[in-house]
Amino acid sequence: MYTAQQQKQFIEQSKAFITAVLDDNNYATLVQLLKFHEWKYYVDNEPVLSDQDFDILFNKLKNYEAVNPLFVLVDSPTQRVSSDLTPELPAVPHLNPMLSLANSYNGEDLQEYDAQIRKLAMIPEGDIAYYVEPKYDGGSIALVYEDDLLQRAATRGNGTMGEEMTNNARVLGSIPLKATFSKYGIHTAELRGEAVIAKDIFDKINNKRAAEGQQIFANPRNAATGGLRMKDANESRKRGLEVFIFQLAYAKNKAGEDVLPQLESHSGSIAMLQQLGFKVTQREEQNCKSIKEAIEACELWETNREAFNYEIDGAVVKVNDYKIQELCGSTQHHPRWAIAYKFKAKQAHTTLLDVEYQIGKTGAITPVAKVEPVHLAGVTVSSISMHNEEFISQKDLRIGDTVVIERAGDVIPYIVKSLESLRTGEEKIIQFPTHCPFCESILEKAEDVAAWRCINVGCDAQQLQRMTYHVSKDAMNIDGFGKSYVETFKEKGWLNDISDIYNLDYDTIASLEGFGERSATKLENAINLAKTNPIRRLLISLSIHHLGRKASKLIAQEINHVLDLRDWTEDQFTQIKDIGPVVAEKVIEYFSKEENIEVLKKMESYGVNLTQTDADKPKVISLDAPLSGKTILFTGTLQTMSRKVAQTRAEALGAKNISAVSSNLDYLVVGEKAGSKLKKAEKIGTVTILTEEEFNDMSQGYL
Ligand SMILES: [Zn+2]
Repeated sequence: MYTAQQQKQFIEQSKAFITAVLDDNNYATLVQLLKFHEWKYYVDNEPVLSDQDFDILFNKLKNYEAVNPLFVLVDSPTQRVSSDLTPELPAVPHLNPMLSLANSYNGEDLQEYDAQIRKLAMIPEGDIAYYVEPKYDGGSIALVYEDDLLQRAATRGNGTMGEEMTNNARVLGSIPLKATFSKYGIHTAELRGEAVIAKDIFDKINNKRAAEGQQIFANPRNAATGGLRMKDANESRKRGLEVFIFQLAYAKNKAGEDVLPQLESHSGSIAMLQQLGFKVTQREEQNCKSIKEAIEACELWETNREAFNYEIDGAVVKVNDYKIQELCGSTQHHPRWAIAYKFKAKQAHTTLLDVEYQIGKTGAITPVAKVEPVHLAGVTVSSISMHNEEFISQKDLRIGDTVVIERAGDVIPYIVKSLESLRTGEEKIIQFPTHCPFCESILEKAEDVAAWRCINVGCDAQQLQRMTYHVSKDAMNIDGFGKSYVETFKEKGWLNDISDIYNLDYDTIASLEGFGERSATKLENAINLAKTNPIRRLLISLSIHHLGRKASKLIAQEINHVLDLRDWTEDQFTQIKDIGPVVAEKVIEYFSKEENIEVLKKMESYGVNLTQTDADKPKVISLDAPLSGKTILFTGTLQTMSRKVAQTRAEALGAKNISAVSSNLDYLVVGEKAGSKLKKAEKIGTVTILTEEEFNDMSQGYL
């Protein structure tokens, strides 16, 4: 990008500028200098100017531009700072779809892959050259440049359509606002990259957040993908996002001709992108002359994974020569000329210090291992669920054991095994409690289930869980009423059962330390609002074992009043489609207990709605709906709407969405690149096949 000579000169000039006066003659030079320092800082990772001096120059530039707004250059570093909020992230189509990659897991897989490439490209002899890149674990983005200027940035989205995030991209120092693609005859270019946060910066951000009492990020990837979608673009900048470019996916000249082939190889286009000022990963060992070298490169990345300052979860092996790439082509799902090499799941060793027990809202006891805090795949792990007694006995886990823990991607940490050979004899066998650790009543376990359960309805710890669940978003959704309120009010003796939530004395609450008039009123309003909830929410909120959101909704459709369920029989429940005998038994059990009925009656007397509301009633679909009583399935990539939207529309048209092609299927709506489902439907012969347009036509005038 810059020769050593130029760099030296720029550094000298920058020093002189600190005291110089800025005018029309040297404004453009200062823009160039600051662009150079941004590049040194964000792309080259070798800043040569102190932050303080950078700020002096930057402010100088800003002051000049404030007085001379007409002269501001489009690529001036000041133009990165965005004051606009992105109202929403509109969907935009990628110029070239972003496909995913096929996976490989070891050298043998890659040997096989090489054999496949030879077959496809008809190259029986000689080595094929590959380019091996680290597979960054961040958020994928696509950048479009036109006429040398950054026009648009988008997230990966579903691969065909992404969410536009140009404002967020513009503030990131590693993305040039201007890049002279025209030098290479390129008018429109689409680049692929990954936005990541360096591990050391991530730690700093989390430390700062923790100090400020903010929630910390689970891992750099979450912080990065979230950072791309911030409404306030300046927040994206604060997260320290960097963008590594790994692919030139589209390059056309003014006449619309493909100019990619002229660059000859993937390594050629990466070298060009580096020349243009983009951040790329380029190391000697990435350019591999054969699959053997490529395998070695993958293994090297895996070995050095921890020492690398960015989270990577694999490597990507790409056929380097564009001509061979073209011979290989792509399947519907992935390009054949590239393959991911997945690293083994990350493991760490730690000591199992103790076991604690947690209780759920239905009384299930979960053992949780307390371990010596250990860093694993971007998070510090100090407690890990051990699920149930069987998990402990099967793995023979003991207190004091050295255990191997694992975490792959988003998966929560997991104990793989204990290392028996490291035992000293001091380890203690874990005795699963026979009594509830909270209320001391005897634990019970039903046959063929794994969990021990405290069946004491009055168990305090369980009640705390149930009340916390009752007020939560998923259940009665009482805004602002969290676990700490439940704990405080319970301690005061105000909450003996859930009905008490609706009979609180707000004057007394207002006088509590840390509350006051305003928060008490706010709470009162939120509770009063919850009193009017549809009864499906009330049913969920009762913490009846196995009764989830869907079953609650189905039952609420069928009853006028919640207490009607006192008289319901198993048959009545199981006549409802999708409700089985297990749910029926638990609901019947709940409504057979007089103490539960009392609680519900008290709730009603405090104004809680127990009667079916309009929101509880099933949506009425008239018989003349275009797809009334029909089954429908969407396949392939839809162009005008997401799959989810399409399914909701189909339901509104009276159809039922099903997931497989069979003779029960009435309509198959075929998006782009539909595959096996379309073939199967054609074979069956009775399925009506619709294009997306035809489906849209059907809903015209009805929705
Ligand atoms: Zn208990």
